[in-house]
Amino acid sequence: LRLGHGAAWHRSKSTAHPDVKERTLVAVKPDGVQRRLVGQIIQRFEQRGFKLVGLKMLQVSEDLLSQHYCQLTSKPFYPSLVDYMTSGPVVVMVWEGHNVVQSSRTMVGPTNPAAAPTGTVRGDFSIHVSRNVVHASDSLEGAQREIQLWFQGKDLLNWDCCDQSLTVE
Ligand code: ADP
Repeated sequence: LRLGHGAAWHRSKSTAHPDVKERTLVAVKPDGVQRRLVGQIIQRFEQRGFKLVGLKMLQVSEDLLSQHYCQLTSKPFYPSLVDYMTSGPVVVMVWEGHNVVQSSRTMVGPTNPAAAPTGTVRGDFSIHVSRNVVHASDSLEGAQREIQLWFQGKDLLNWDCCDQSLTVE
């Protein structure tokens, strides 16, 4: 890698592996917004090297939530999950980069904060499964489904991050 060399910059850009376009959905849940954790959570994804391509704040409807959590609607905790997730605004983001789906899950930590290692978002900022601060898609297919559910295509931006050749080959 020759930093500052024009030709090397263009070469690394044009040969970049297509999986740097992988995208995932991350949401700061109402407890995270109320506790003013939005900035710290965004900072972790920025400093890791991922690229923000979509961001919005909204009050979630029960309808959107039932689609988002379609596999959980028959769970005993679902009614309290709806109360929690509709208790205030959420901040929803789409992050892009190499292996971003799996890396985001690792950064967020296990569903139950009691099992989440220190250094993960849930391990650092939460103690109970019912208030675990953040969401991250759990698979490539899940990410695609959730991104389509929460965002319109026009609200996701394709932009070149000037340091991309410093974070991936
Ligand atoms: P994850 O958010 O880690 O992908 P799940 O999809 O299994 O986990 O669950 C979705 C969300 O439902 C969790 O993040 C949490 O907010 C809530 N939840 C899951 N299990 C429980 C539970 N036993 N009690 C209360 N809330 C729960």
